[in-house]
Amino acid sequence: MDMVIVMLGAPGTGKGTVGHLLSKEFNIPHVSSGEIFRSYLKKHGELAEEIQNYIEKGQLVPDNLAINLIEKRLFEEDVKKGIILDGFPRTILQAEKLKEILAKQGRKVNIAINLSLPDNEIIERIVKRRTCPNHECRAIYNLDFKPPKIEGICDNCNTPLIQREDDNEETVKQRLKVYHQTSEILIDYYKHQDILYTVKLNQKSDVTTLGIAEEIKEYLKRN
Ligand code: ADP
Ligand code: ZN
Repeated sequence: MDMVIVMLGAPGTGKGTVGHLLSKEFNIPHVSSGEIFRSYLKKHGELAEEIQNYIEKGQLVPDNLAINLIEKRLFEEDVKKGIILDGFPRTILQAEKLKEILAKQGRKVNIAINLSLPDNEIIERIVKRRTCPNHECRAIYNLDFKPPKIEGICDNCNTPLIQREDDNEETVKQRLKVYHQTSEILIDYYKHQDILYTVKLNQKSDVTTLGIAEEIKEYLKRN
């Protein structure tokens, strides 16, 4: 079954982790806009510099750039039978564009998953987040919550873990500010279409054990 899942939620709420879980569960690719941008930083000259500037400051990359890169990705072969979009759309313009692109393919967003967590807990989580930079793995750890078995090393693939450059307190605060400026209207947008599914998290919630995939399956069956 073709399925288009959009992951909403502030930075640090676990969009990446949940996206990854759902990807394995439903056997469809997990596409993270942030990762697409970060991979550009490594290859392209001018474009990379421009993107870097925004990411560094915790600001959104301009809509046209974000839309172009995601549009390309949406026409690749592997996402024809489903996709989990993590980090896109972030603005109404992006959401409208996504709708248009999907319509061309005879598809639509089936569910928008909104992970919600209070800001103070978000900051805590992000500054303690460590990421596996191996593209095939992309495991995410938390020094308090889910530390790797060997300090600084990925459990799955033995790659040294990194802290993302934008995962520092100052940039996180800016990212949260941007998030609050743009998210409400986006959440309403999907609520009005009756495809919003909110998961309320708290400090102790571990998204890997919450059974979100099961809940989503039930939800999609009912709708
Ligand atoms: P997080 O959700 O933890 O903030 P992401 O990896 O999703 O991290 O995004 C990192 C950065 O990439 C954002 O702060 C922003 O600069 C940029 N970015 C990601 N997705 C988008 C998007 N859809 N539109 C504009 N900028 C984006
Ligand atoms: Zn790894």
